[in-house]
Amino acid sequence: MAKVSLKNVCKSFGSVEAVSCFDLDIDDKEFLVLLGPSGCGKSTTLRMIAGLEELTDGDIFIGDRKVNDVAPRDRDIAMVFQDYALYPHMTVRQNLGFSLKMAKMPKDEIKTRVDDSAAILGIEDLLDRKPRELSGGQRQRVAVGRAIVRKPAVFLFDEPLSNLDAKLRGQMRAELSRLHKRLETTMIYVTHDQVEAMTMGTMIVIMKDGLVQQVAPPMEIYEYPANRFVAGFIGNPGMNFMPAEIAESEGALVIRSDGYSLEVPEAKRPFLEKWRGKDVSLGIRPEHMEDKAFANPDDFKGSMTAKLDVVETLGAEIQLNVMVGESSLVARVDPRSRVRVDDTMELAVNLDKIHLFANDGEQMRIATEKRL
Ligand code: ATP
Repeated sequence: MAKVSLKNVCKSFGSVEAVSCFDLDIDDKEFLVLLGPSGCGKSTTLRMIAGLEELTDGDIFIGDRKVNDVAPRDRDIAMVFQDYALYPHMTVRQNLGFSLKMAKMPKDEIKTRVDDSAAILGIEDLLDRKPRELSGGQRQRVAVGRAIVRKPAVFLFDEPLSNLDAKLRGQMRAELSRLHKRLETTMIYVTHDQVEAMTMGTMIVIMKDGLVQQVAPPMEIYEYPANRFVAGFIGNPGMNFMPAEIAESEGALVIRSDGYSLEVPEAKRPFLEKWRGKDVSLGIRPEHMEDKAFANPDDFKGSMTAKLDVVETLGAEIQLNVMVGESSLVARVDPRSRVRVDDTMELAVNLDKIHLFANDGEQMRIATEKRL
Protein backbone atom coordinates (compact mmCIF):
# COMPACT_ATOMS: atom_id res chain seq x y z
CA MET A 1 0.00 0.00 0.00
CA ALA A 2 1.38 3.38 -0.92
CA LYS A 3 0.59 6.73 -2.35
CA VAL A 4 2.41 7.78 -5.49
CA SER A 5 3.40 11.36 -6.31
CA LEU A 6 4.64 12.79 -9.58
CA LYS A 7 6.24 16.22 -9.23
CA ASN A 8 6.78 18.20 -12.39
CA VAL A 9 7.37 14.97 -14.31
CA CYS A 10 7.95 15.08 -18.07
CA LYS A 11 9.46 13.04 -20.84
CA SER A 12 10.83 13.89 -24.26
CA PHE A 13 12.19 11.52 -26.83
CA GLY A 14 14.53 13.75 -28.82
CA SER A 15 12.33 16.53 -30.11
CA VAL A 16 9.08 14.62 -29.33
CA GLU A 17 7.53 15.81 -26.09
CA ALA A 18 5.73 12.59 -25.13
CA VAL A 19 4.57 13.89 -21.73
CA SER A 20 4.52 17.58 -20.80
CA CYS A 21 5.49 18.44 -17.22
CA PHE A 22 2.73 17.78 -14.73
CA ASP A 23 2.03 17.04 -11.06
CA LEU A 24 -0.12 14.16 -9.89
CA ASP A 25 -0.88 12.81 -6.42
CA ILE A 26 -2.29 9.31 -6.35
CA ASP A 27 -3.77 8.41 -2.97
CA ASP A 28 -3.12 5.14 -1.23
CA LYS A 29 -5.67 2.48 -2.39
CA GLU A 30 -6.74 4.59 -5.36
CA PHE A 31 -7.60 2.87 -8.66
CA LEU A 32 -6.21 5.53 -10.96
CA VAL A 33 -6.80 5.23 -14.69
CA LEU A 34 -4.65 7.00 -17.26
CA LEU A 35 -7.01 7.42 -20.20
CA GLY A 36 -6.57 8.91 -23.65
CA PRO A 37 -6.22 8.21 -27.35
CA SER A 38 -3.26 6.43 -28.86
CA GLY A 39 -0.01 8.37 -28.53
CA CYS A 40 -1.21 10.69 -25.74
CA GLY A 41 1.60 9.65 -23.40
CA LYS A 42 -0.18 7.36 -20.96
CA SER A 43 2.14 4.33 -21.39
CA THR A 44 5.18 6.58 -21.11
CA THR A 45 3.79 7.95 -17.83
CA LEU A 46 3.24 4.43 -16.49
CA ARG A 47 6.68 3.30 -17.61
CA MET A 48 8.25 6.25 -15.81
CA ILE A 49 6.50 5.19 -12.60
CA ALA A 50 7.69 1.63 -13.20
CA GLY A 51 11.26 2.79 -13.73
CA LEU A 52 11.35 1.47 -17.29
CA GLU A 53 11.74 4.96 -18.74
CA GLU A 54 14.02 7.69 -17.42
CA LEU A 55 12.48 11.06 -16.59
CA THR A 56 13.52 14.07 -18.63
CA ASP A 57 12.63 16.20 -15.62
CA GLY A 58 10.86 15.91 -12.27
CA ASP A 59 10.63 13.49 -9.36
CA ILE A 60 8.57 10.40 -8.60
CA PHE A 61 7.79 9.29 -5.06
CA ILE A 62 6.36 5.92 -4.08
CA GLY A 63 5.29 6.27 -0.47
CA ASP A 64 7.77 8.76 0.98
CA ARG A 65 10.68 7.43 -1.04
CA LYS A 66 11.99 9.25 -4.08
CA VAL A 67 12.49 6.53 -6.66
CA ASN A 68 14.09 8.36 -9.61
CA ASP A 69 17.29 6.37 -9.20
CA VAL A 70 15.74 3.16 -7.84
CA ALA A 71 15.78 0.12 -10.17
CA PRO A 72 12.35 -1.21 -11.26
CA ARG A 73 12.69 -4.41 -9.21
CA ASP A 74 13.36 -2.39 -6.05
CA ARG A 75 10.42 0.00 -6.41
CA ASP A 76 7.92 -2.29 -4.68
CA ILE A 77 5.70 -2.34 -7.76
CA ALA A 78 4.39 -5.10 -10.04
CA MET A 79 3.39 -4.54 -13.63
CA VAL A 80 0.92 -6.43 -15.83
CA PHE A 81 1.47 -5.99 -19.55
CA GLN A 82 -0.88 -6.16 -22.50
CA ASP A 83 0.88 -9.23 -23.93
CA TYR A 84 1.02 -10.98 -20.49
CA ALA A 85 4.77 -11.71 -20.93
CA LEU A 86 4.49 -15.24 -19.48
CA TYR A 87 7.43 -17.63 -19.74
CA PRO A 88 6.26 -20.20 -22.32
CA HIS A 89 8.41 -23.10 -21.10
CA MET A 90 7.28 -22.79 -17.47
CA THR A 91 4.08 -24.10 -15.89
CA VAL A 92 1.60 -21.67 -14.41
CA ARG A 93 2.93 -22.50 -10.92
CA GLN A 94 6.49 -21.76 -12.04
CA ASN A 95 5.41 -18.57 -13.77
CA LEU A 96 3.65 -17.40 -10.63
CA GLY A 97 6.54 -18.22 -8.33
CA PHE A 98 9.40 -17.11 -10.57
CA SER A 99 9.98 -13.63 -9.17
CA LEU A 100 9.82 -14.95 -5.61
CA LYS A 101 12.33 -17.66 -6.44
CA MET A 102 14.64 -15.02 -7.91
CA ALA A 103 14.26 -13.08 -4.66
CA LYS A 104 15.39 -16.24 -2.85
CA MET A 105 12.19 -16.60 -0.87
CA PRO A 106 11.88 -19.92 1.07
CA LYS A 107 10.06 -22.65 -0.91
CA ASP A 108 7.17 -23.11 1.50
CA GLU A 109 6.50 -19.36 1.52
CA ILE A 110 6.49 -19.35 -2.29
CA LYS A 111 4.04 -22.25 -2.32
CA THR A 112 1.71 -20.47 0.12
CA ARG A 113 1.76 -17.26 -1.88
CA VAL A 114 1.24 -19.02 -5.21
CA ASP A 115 -1.63 -21.09 -3.84
CA ASP A 116 -3.26 -18.03 -2.26
CA SER A 117 -2.99 -16.00 -5.46
CA ALA A 118 -4.30 -18.88 -7.57
CA ALA A 119 -7.29 -19.16 -5.22
CA ILE A 120 -8.01 -15.42 -5.45
CA LEU A 121 -8.05 -15.66 -9.25
CA GLY A 122 -9.77 -19.05 -9.50
CA ILE A 123 -6.91 -20.67 -11.41
CA GLU A 124 -6.02 -23.47 -8.94
CA ASP A 125 -6.82 -26.13 -11.56
CA LEU A 126 -4.41 -24.63 -14.08
CA LEU A 127 -1.23 -24.64 -12.01
CA ASP A 128 0.39 -27.53 -13.88
CA ARG A 129 -0.38 -26.26 -17.38
CA LYS A 130 1.91 -24.34 -19.70
CA PRO A 131 0.79 -20.94 -21.06
CA ARG A 132 0.07 -22.38 -24.53
CA GLU A 133 -2.55 -24.65 -22.94
CA LEU A 134 -4.50 -21.67 -21.60
CA SER A 135 -7.18 -19.44 -23.09
CA GLY A 136 -6.56 -15.69 -23.42
CA GLY A 137 -8.57 -14.96 -20.30
CA GLN A 138 -6.71 -17.61 -18.30
CA ARG A 139 -3.36 -16.26 -19.42
CA GLN A 140 -4.44 -12.84 -18.38
CA ARG A 141 -5.32 -14.13 -14.91
CA VAL A 142 -1.91 -15.77 -14.63
CA ALA A 143 -0.28 -12.47 -15.56
CA VAL A 144 -2.26 -10.74 -12.80
CA GLY A 145 -1.41 -13.61 -10.42
CA ARG A 146 2.26 -13.08 -11.08
CA ALA A 147 1.84 -9.52 -9.87
CA ILE A 148 -0.26 -10.49 -6.82
CA VAL A 149 2.25 -13.00 -5.41
CA ARG A 150 4.75 -10.22 -4.92
CA LYS A 151 2.38 -8.27 -2.68
CA PRO A 152 3.58 -4.99 -4.17
CA ALA A 153 2.78 -1.54 -2.81
CA VAL A 154 1.52 -0.51 -6.24
CA PHE A 155 0.12 -2.44 -9.20
CA LEU A 156 0.71 -1.06 -12.69
CA PHE A 157 -1.43 -2.26 -15.60
CA ASP A 158 -0.74 -1.41 -19.24
CA GLU A 159 -3.87 -2.15 -21.31
CA PRO A 160 -4.15 -5.64 -19.79
CA LEU A 161 -7.53 -6.44 -21.33
CA SER A 162 -7.02 -5.29 -24.89
CA ASN A 163 -6.28 -8.78 -26.25
CA LEU A 164 -9.53 -10.23 -24.91
CA ASP A 165 -12.90 -10.42 -26.67
CA ALA A 166 -15.65 -8.04 -25.59
CA LYS A 167 -17.46 -10.48 -23.28
CA LEU A 168 -14.32 -11.56 -21.47
CA ARG A 169 -13.21 -7.95 -21.17
CA GLY A 170 -16.46 -7.21 -19.38
CA GLN A 171 -15.91 -10.13 -16.97
CA MET A 172 -12.30 -9.20 -16.30
CA ARG A 173 -13.28 -5.59 -15.61
CA ALA A 174 -15.50 -6.79 -12.80
CA GLU A 175 -12.78 -9.17 -11.56
CA LEU A 176 -10.16 -6.46 -11.44
CA SER A 177 -12.53 -4.17 -9.53
CA ARG A 178 -13.19 -6.95 -7.02
CA LEU A 179 -9.46 -7.60 -6.77
CA HIS A 180 -8.81 -3.95 -6.06
CA LYS A 181 -11.39 -3.98 -3.28
CA ARG A 182 -9.98 -7.16 -1.81
CA LEU A 183 -6.28 -6.27 -1.95
CA GLU A 184 -6.79 -2.64 -0.94
CA THR A 185 -3.72 -1.64 -2.91
CA THR A 186 -2.95 1.34 -5.11
CA MET A 187 -3.50 0.47 -8.77
CA ILE A 188 -2.51 2.54 -11.79
CA TYR A 189 -4.12 1.40 -15.01
CA VAL A 190 -3.53 2.55 -18.59
CA THR A 191 -6.28 2.26 -21.20
CA HIS A 192 -7.74 4.01 -24.22
CA ASP A 193 -11.14 2.47 -23.41
CA GLN A 194 -13.44 4.95 -21.68
CA VAL A 195 -15.73 2.14 -20.46
CA GLU A 196 -12.85 0.51 -18.57
CA ALA A 197 -11.92 3.88 -17.11
CA MET A 198 -15.45 4.75 -16.03
CA THR A 199 -16.29 1.33 -14.58
CA MET A 200 -13.06 0.57 -12.73
CA GLY A 201 -11.41 3.88 -11.93
CA THR A 202 -11.87 5.72 -8.66
CA MET A 203 -9.92 8.56 -10.28
CA ILE A 204 -9.30 9.25 -13.97
CA VAL A 205 -6.53 11.22 -15.62
CA ILE A 206 -7.43 12.19 -19.17
CA MET A 207 -4.51 12.93 -21.48
CA LYS A 208 -4.18 14.26 -24.99
CA ASP A 209 -0.99 15.02 -26.93
CA GLY A 210 1.13 14.57 -23.82
CA LEU A 211 -0.95 17.04 -21.82
CA VAL A 212 -3.13 16.22 -18.84
CA GLN A 213 -6.63 17.52 -19.59
CA GLN A 214 -8.45 16.66 -16.38
CA VAL A 215 -8.00 14.68 -13.17
CA ALA A 216 -11.26 13.76 -11.42
CA PRO A 217 -13.50 10.87 -10.31
CA PRO A 218 -15.49 9.25 -13.16
CA MET A 219 -18.84 10.95 -12.60
CA GLU A 220 -17.26 14.36 -12.18
CA ILE A 221 -15.52 13.92 -15.51
CA TYR A 222 -18.81 12.88 -17.08
CA GLU A 223 -20.83 15.72 -15.61
CA TYR A 224 -18.23 18.47 -15.61
CA PRO A 225 -15.81 17.81 -18.44
CA ALA A 226 -13.00 20.37 -18.31
CA ASN A 227 -13.08 21.05 -22.02
CA ARG A 228 -14.59 19.97 -25.28
CA PHE A 229 -12.05 17.21 -25.85
CA VAL A 230 -12.90 15.53 -22.53
CA ALA A 231 -16.62 16.04 -23.13
CA GLY A 232 -16.41 14.28 -26.48
CA PHE A 233 -14.10 11.50 -25.31
CA ILE A 234 -16.26 10.31 -22.39
CA GLY A 235 -19.76 8.96 -23.08
CA ASN A 236 -21.21 6.58 -25.62
CA PRO A 237 -22.96 7.69 -27.75
CA GLY A 238 -20.89 10.81 -27.39
CA MET A 239 -21.98 14.31 -26.49
CA ASN A 240 -23.65 16.23 -29.32
CA PHE A 241 -22.01 19.49 -30.32
CA MET A 242 -23.68 22.35 -32.17
CA PRO A 243 -22.53 25.79 -33.19
CA ALA A 244 -24.06 28.43 -30.92
CA GLU A 245 -24.20 32.10 -30.07
CA ILE A 246 -25.57 33.86 -27.01
CA ALA A 247 -27.87 36.66 -28.12
CA GLU A 248 -30.76 38.87 -27.00
CA SER A 249 -34.13 38.01 -28.51
CA GLU A 250 -37.40 39.72 -27.56
CA GLY A 251 -36.11 40.65 -24.12
CA ALA A 252 -34.74 37.22 -23.31
CA LEU A 253 -31.26 35.79 -23.60
CA VAL A 254 -31.11 32.86 -26.00
CA ILE A 255 -28.60 30.25 -27.09
CA ARG A 256 -29.18 29.87 -30.77
CA SER A 257 -27.89 28.94 -34.16
CA ASP A 258 -29.19 27.64 -37.43
CA GLY A 259 -32.40 25.68 -36.70
CA TYR A 260 -32.83 26.26 -32.95
CA SER A 261 -33.18 28.85 -30.24
CA LEU A 262 -33.15 27.93 -26.53
CA GLU A 263 -34.30 30.53 -24.04
CA VAL A 264 -31.93 30.86 -21.11
CA PRO A 265 -33.73 30.76 -17.72
CA GLU A 266 -33.74 34.25 -16.18
CA ALA A 267 -31.70 33.11 -13.16
CA LYS A 268 -28.84 32.05 -15.42
CA ARG A 269 -28.82 35.25 -17.37
CA PRO A 270 -26.12 37.13 -15.43
CA PHE A 271 -23.84 34.16 -15.76
CA LEU A 272 -24.23 33.95 -19.51
CA GLU A 273 -24.06 37.65 -20.29
CA LYS A 274 -20.30 37.67 -20.57
CA TRP A 275 -20.45 34.94 -23.19
CA ARG A 276 -22.52 37.07 -25.46
CA GLY A 277 -21.01 37.50 -28.87
CA LYS A 278 -18.34 34.86 -28.17
CA ASP A 279 -17.58 31.95 -30.44
CA VAL A 280 -19.09 29.01 -28.51
CA SER A 281 -20.36 25.47 -29.01
CA LEU A 282 -23.39 23.95 -27.33
CA GLY A 283 -22.92 20.45 -25.92
CA ILE A 284 -25.87 18.17 -25.06
CA ARG A 285 -25.60 14.53 -24.02
CA PRO A 286 -28.02 12.17 -25.81
CA GLU A 287 -29.88 11.38 -22.57
CA HIS A 288 -30.60 15.06 -21.99
CA MET A 289 -32.91 15.20 -24.99
CA GLU A 290 -36.35 13.58 -25.02
CA ASP A 291 -39.37 13.17 -27.24
CA LYS A 292 -41.44 16.13 -26.02
CA ALA A 293 -44.52 13.92 -25.70
CA PHE A 294 -42.78 12.01 -22.89
CA ALA A 295 -40.64 14.73 -21.34
CA ASN A 296 -41.23 15.97 -17.81
CA PRO A 297 -41.60 19.73 -18.34
CA ASP A 298 -39.98 20.41 -14.92
CA ASP A 299 -36.71 18.96 -16.22
CA PHE A 300 -36.92 19.54 -19.94
CA LYS A 301 -37.55 23.26 -20.25
CA GLY A 302 -36.20 23.82 -23.76
CA SER A 303 -37.10 22.36 -27.12
CA MET A 304 -35.84 22.10 -30.69
CA THR A 305 -37.55 21.13 -33.89
CA ALA A 306 -35.79 18.10 -35.34
CA LYS A 307 -36.04 16.06 -38.52
CA LEU A 308 -35.78 12.32 -37.92
CA ASP A 309 -33.11 10.50 -39.81
CA VAL A 310 -32.74 7.06 -38.16
CA VAL A 311 -34.75 5.35 -35.40
CA GLU A 312 -33.04 2.53 -33.48
CA THR A 313 -35.27 0.62 -31.10
CA LEU A 314 -33.09 -0.83 -28.36
CA GLY A 315 -35.77 -2.10 -25.99
CA ALA A 316 -35.14 -0.07 -22.85
CA GLU A 317 -34.79 3.09 -24.93
CA ILE A 318 -34.96 4.37 -28.46
CA GLN A 319 -31.98 6.01 -30.05
CA LEU A 320 -32.78 8.71 -32.56
CA ASN A 321 -30.49 10.25 -35.13
CA VAL A 322 -31.94 13.63 -35.97
CA MET A 323 -31.03 16.79 -37.84
CA VAL A 324 -31.43 20.19 -36.23
CA GLY A 325 -30.46 22.78 -38.80
CA GLU A 326 -27.17 21.49 -40.21
CA SER A 327 -26.27 19.56 -37.04
CA SER A 328 -26.62 15.81 -36.79
CA LEU A 329 -27.56 14.77 -33.23
CA VAL A 330 -28.20 11.57 -31.30
CA ALA A 331 -30.97 11.47 -28.68
CA ARG A 332 -31.88 8.65 -26.29
CA VAL A 333 -35.61 8.83 -25.77
CA ASP A 334 -38.46 7.04 -24.02
CA PRO A 335 -39.20 3.57 -25.49
CA ARG A 336 -42.86 4.53 -25.80
CA SER A 337 -42.00 7.15 -28.40
CA ARG A 338 -43.69 6.38 -31.71
CA VAL A 339 -41.81 8.78 -33.95
CA ARG A 340 -40.84 7.59 -37.42
CA VAL A 341 -38.14 8.26 -39.94
CA ASP A 342 -38.71 11.52 -41.85
CA ASP A 343 -41.08 12.84 -39.14
CA THR A 344 -40.54 16.34 -37.89
CA MET A 345 -40.63 16.23 -34.10
CA GLU A 346 -40.24 18.42 -31.05
CA LEU A 347 -37.18 17.37 -29.09
CA ALA A 348 -37.24 18.53 -25.48
CA VAL A 349 -33.91 19.62 -23.97
CA ASN A 350 -32.88 19.56 -20.31
CA LEU A 351 -31.46 23.06 -20.01
CA ASP A 352 -29.97 22.28 -16.60
CA LYS A 353 -27.61 19.76 -18.16
CA ILE A 354 -26.36 21.53 -21.24
CA HIS A 355 -22.75 22.61 -21.67
CA LEU A 356 -21.23 25.57 -23.40
CA PHE A 357 -17.70 25.48 -24.65
CA ALA A 358 -15.95 28.66 -25.63
CA ASN A 359 -13.99 27.63 -28.65
CA ASP A 360 -10.88 28.90 -26.83
CA GLY A 361 -11.22 25.94 -24.44
CA GLU A 362 -13.15 27.41 -21.50
CA GLN A 363 -16.28 25.50 -20.52
CA MET A 364 -19.17 25.78 -18.15
CA ARG A 365 -22.38 24.02 -17.40
CA ILE A 366 -25.36 26.24 -17.01
CA ALA A 367 -27.00 24.22 -14.23
CA THR A 368 -24.51 24.59 -11.46
CA GLU A 369 -22.58 27.48 -12.82
CA LYS A 370 -19.59 25.38 -12.03
CA ARG A 371 -16.59 26.72 -13.86
CA LEU A 372 -13.70 24.43 -14.54
P1 ATP B 1 -0.82 3.86 -27.09
O1 ATP B 1 -2.20 3.77 -26.52
O2 ATP B 1 -0.80 3.83 -28.58
O3 ATP B 1 0.17 2.92 -26.45
P2 ATP B 1 0.14 6.02 -25.41
O4 ATP B 1 -0.84 7.03 -25.01
O5 ATP B 1 0.50 5.00 -24.41
O6 ATP B 1 -0.30 5.36 -26.78
P3 ATP B 1 2.95 6.57 -25.51
O7 ATP B 1 3.33 5.19 -25.89
O8 ATP B 1 3.20 7.00 -24.13
O9 ATP B 1 1.43 6.84 -25.87
O10 ATP B 1 3.66 7.57 -26.53
C1 ATP B 1 3.57 8.99 -26.41
C2 ATP B 1 4.36 9.62 -27.51
O11 ATP B 1 5.76 9.35 -27.36
C3 ATP B 1 4.01 9.16 -28.91
O12 ATP B 1 4.08 10.26 -29.77
C4 ATP B 1 5.07 8.14 -29.21
O13 ATP B 1 5.28 8.04 -30.60
C5 ATP B 1 6.27 8.71 -28.51
N1 ATP B 1 7.20 7.65 -28.05
C6 ATP B 1 6.92 6.67 -27.16
N2 ATP B 1 8.02 5.90 -26.95
C7 ATP B 1 9.01 6.41 -27.72
C8 ATP B 1 10.38 6.06 -27.94
N3 ATP B 1 10.94 5.05 -27.31
N4 ATP B 1 11.08 6.82 -28.83
C9 ATP B 1 10.51 7.88 -29.47
N5 ATP B 1 9.24 8.26 -29.29
C10 ATP B 1 8.48 7.54 -28.44
